[in-house]
Formats: sequence, C-alpha cells, structure tokens
Amino acid sequence: MRRTIFGVIFLMVFKLSAQEKYPQGVFQPPLDIPLVLAGTFGELRSNHFHAGMDIKTQQREGLPVYAIADGTVTRIKISHWGYGKALYVAHPNGYTSVYAHLRKFGPEIEEYIKKIQYTKQSYEVEAFPDYGELKVAKGSVIAYTGNSGSSAGPHLHFEIRSSVTEKPTNPLLYGYDVRDATNPTLLGLYGYPLSEDAVVNQSAKMIQLNFTRQPDGSFLADKVNAVGTIGFGINSFDRLDMAANKNGVYSVKQTVNGRVYTEFDFETFSFGETRYINTLIDYGYFGKYRERIQKCFKEPYNYLGIYKELYNNGKIDVEEGMSYSVEILISDIAGNETKLVIPVEGKREIPKIKKEEATTENFIIASKPNNFDLGAAKVYFPANTFYDDFYINLKKGKDTVTIHDNSVAAHRNFTISFDPSQYPLEERKQLFIARLDDRLRPSYATTYKRDGAFTTRTRNLGVYTLARDSVAPTITPKNFKEKQWLSNYSYLSLEISDDLSGIDTYRATLNGKWILMEYEPKTNTITYNFDDNIVDEAQCELEVIVTDNVGNSSTFTSTFFRK
Ligand SMILES: [Zn+2]
Repeated sequence: MRRTIFGVIFLMVFKLSAQEKYPQGVFQPPLDIPLVLAGTFGELRSNHFHAGMDIKTQQREGLPVYAIADGTVTRIKISHWGYGKALYVAHPNGYTSVYAHLRKFGPEIEEYIKKIQYTKQSYEVEAFPDYGELKVAKGSVIAYTGNSGSSAGPHLHFEIRSSVTEKPTNPLLYGYDVRDATNPTLLGLYGYPLSEDAVVNQSAKMIQLNFTRQPDGSFLADKVNAVGTIGFGINSFDRLDMAANKNGVYSVKQTVNGRVYTEFDFETFSFGETRYINTLIDYGYFGKYRERIQKCFKEPYNYLGIYKELYNNGKIDVEEGMSYSVEILISDIAGNETKLVIPVEGKREIPKIKKEEATTENFIIASKPNNFDLGAAKVYFPANTFYDDFYINLKKGKDTVTIHDNSVAAHRNFTISFDPSQYPLEERKQLFIARLDDRLRPSYATTYKRDGAFTTRTRNLGVYTLARDSVAPTITPKNFKEKQWLSNYSYLSLEISDDLSGIDTYRATLNGKWILMEYEPKTNTITYNFDDNIVDEAQCELEVIVTDNVGNSSTFTSTFFRK
C-alpha cells in the first residue's frame, strides 16, 4: 500500500487540523470547580466506549451546572437507568452539549419537564422542546449535579456532540484545562499467534509477555521468538493529576521496523459502532478475567472507524531468520507517552503450548441463522448474531438451559423461548425468564408472554430458566409515620423493593390526585416533593401501588396532616 505524494500531503494537513478542527476556548467549563476526571472519552466500558468525560464533583451532589455557551435546549430525558436526568443543549456553532446523571434541572427547565411528567403521569419522560423554546445563556445555571441513572457515585457526565451527525467528540479537544502530567500506565503485554502455523514463545495460543522499565522511562519487552502471522495486545490505562481513577488512553500506535502498522485514537466515534468495542478487546479474556486487552491488530469483523492508519490490519508476518523491532506508543490527550519496544526474532520453535480445540456438537456459522431445541427452551440466533464462527456449548434441561457462557460476545439480540405448558395456568402468571449468574442467582429477563410461549430477547449468553415470583413488592415509609403532622417536611420518601422479578410500575396519589414520585432504583427510594403543591387540604390520604414484573401488586395507604 503505497501512498501518493498527495495522500501524504492530505494526511499531514489532516493531522495538523485534528487539533484545530474544534473551536478552542469557545466553550466554558460546565462546572466552576477544577476539572478532575473520573473517566475519559473513549474509555473502555461494557459493550461501549465512554462517550464523554466524567467530571468529579468532590463526592457531592447539587453543584451548579453551567451552559457552556449560548444555546437552546433540544432534549430532556429522565430515566431510571442510563443517563438518569439528562439535558441536551444545541449551540449555534453546530455542537450539542450533553449533561447527565443530574439531580435536577434549572428552574425554567425543571418547570417545563415537571409539567410533562404530570401530564403523562410518569417520572420517566423524554421531551424535545422546539428550537428556541428553552433558550439558555452561556454561564447560566441549567442544572445541578447528581448521581441519577447508571452512575456509581456523584459526578457530571459531560459530552460534546456534533448536532448534525450526533457523533460524540472528545471534550478535551476543545481546550479545557484538565491537568495531566502522568504517562499512561502499561499493565500487560500479550502475543497472539494469528495464522494456523504461528507460534509466539513456543505457544500456539495467546501468551503473556514480560517487559521491564528502562532508565529513560520506556519499556522493553523480553526478546520474543515467533514465526507466522502474529499480533500484539496491551492492557493499559491513563492516570490524570489529582485523581486515582484509571481512565482510558487517547491513542495507540504500533510500528514495525519504523513503519506504522496500527494507529487508532479517541477523537470521535459513532453510537452505531460503539458495540464493536467487543472486537477491539480480547473478549474471551475479558469474560474470564474482567480485564480489557486492546488488540493492536484489527479483526476482519471489526467495523470501528477509530483507525487513523492500518497496514496489514496491524498483523505482523514474521519470517524465519528475520528480526523485527515492534514499537507500541500509548498516549493520553495531553501528549504524555509511554513507549514499549518489543524485539521479535523470526525463529521456528515447536509449540509447547498447543491450541485448545474446545469442540462441541454444535458449530455456529456466524453469517447464517441458527436454531436449537434445548428441551425446556428453543434458542434462535439470527444471522450475524456473532462476530465469528465457533463451537457453541449448549446444555439441554427440563427447566434450565445453558447457552454457552460469557466468553463470547453477541452483537445482536437472539431469542430464547420457553414452553410453559407443563405449569398450571395460575402458576404461569408468576413465571418469568431468569438469567442465572455464576452463583445461580436469578435476574429478570424481559419476558414476553403469548400463545403459550414465554420469550426473551437478549445479547447475554449463559444459563436461563423459568423462575417464579409469588411475593408482592414491599412498600415502607422512610421519613414519616401514620397520622403524623408533616408541616415542616419538604419531601415524602418511601422504600419500595421486590425480592425476585423486580419492580415494573409504581404509582402514588394524594387525596386521589396523581403525584410525581422520583424513583431511585439504586437506593430503592421513591420521593415526592411537597413543592409540587398537589393538595392543599390539611388531611392527606397517600396511596402507593407498586407492581412487580409478573404482576404481583402491593398497595400502601397512610394518612398524614399538613398546614
Ligand atoms: Zn460518564
């Protein structure tokens, strides 16, 4: 692959403009505290790359969030999981800023969304205000930080997207001051024999390689003896100043004898491709050890657009008697670099570690649809559910079936259908499809019940069974008692929980009028804010109805007084 002179010039221009492509200093920070990150853009997460940066909020909630520029609110979304309370603001320069895991919105936006919540009688809502309907000025308070949705602690998740393509871009490309003087950390190096005949250090399967730190701070791997087509993988993270968090690195570049074989970075990616992260990482290794190795070579079924340069898909053809100097450069966006040199000697050795051929009765051809009857359940994999062909491990059972394990990633949903006809009709109502974890604890898989078949669609391989939930949810007041005067209270809160299938719906009324209960599933808490002013009577009858995922329902009533 020879580049023309125009190609080289184009590439140089492209590379130079990578920093200049994005407006510098136009956007102000969304918080008025020093920006310390708990997560970076492109960081490797479960089934996705992190689409923004996570700004630490000093273990607190309620910090004011500022509009980074003039703009208009284009989307408000409130969900139990995911981004929790999230706000999207479009700016005239073609970018949209996103703020997530919020505790609440600024007054005008809060009033706007509450009206919709009361109209729809739902805490979870999504609204798309008209352009210009909810304008915000640069530096105005548009929200307060929180911990809502799938957030493991108080922080602000912040994104900058293209308003047109909706592609998220690395927020650190816009000139934000985030201190980082620390080089990326290299935890592990792995060699992959890729061709049939390939061997790395007498191993025909992936093998960990040793390296040592050199006086100049770079790393040198022990000499690798190899032959055939091989590849390398690294396990690394980036630590920033003032925080211990293990963040993602910005770019990885692999050269062989000075020639660039692989270069990828996290300038941008699309939500459509983010799940292909499972082809960048060694998914089998991740399933076993929960550690993410990034491959420096590109699999044929990897459709990620993060690659800036590729030669031979990053794979190295090692010939007997030749020597190679492989260099891997890991960088953060601040320009700190960690260099690793791997000397490779072309040497044919008899593999002591053989390839494991875990064959089973059933071979999946990924490009074709596959159907299996497992006794208690039937499983249907549409074409291209999987990335690659493999021997699938299936176990039939009377009521439990095993559909391989978490060492293989599914890209698309597949269907599992149980036949509930052996159970009496009354019992069937309380049955649901459950996925059993390693310790055989059941978790609810969204179960569609029709025509005598219970069906779920999932991308998780593993053990599935029909479980029965016969216990209704519990509802317990947290901050009040029956017949209490609550005049000085600003909110009502109750704990709701369900033992097995989980909570499906919750609904509360005061003197018969629907009230907004904000549900925080992480703490099993629903909260009503008295500022909503739904009743003005002194005697208040509260009714809360909670239903689980199979329809078991509980009702809680209580009387309290207010002046
Ligand atoms: Zn985040």
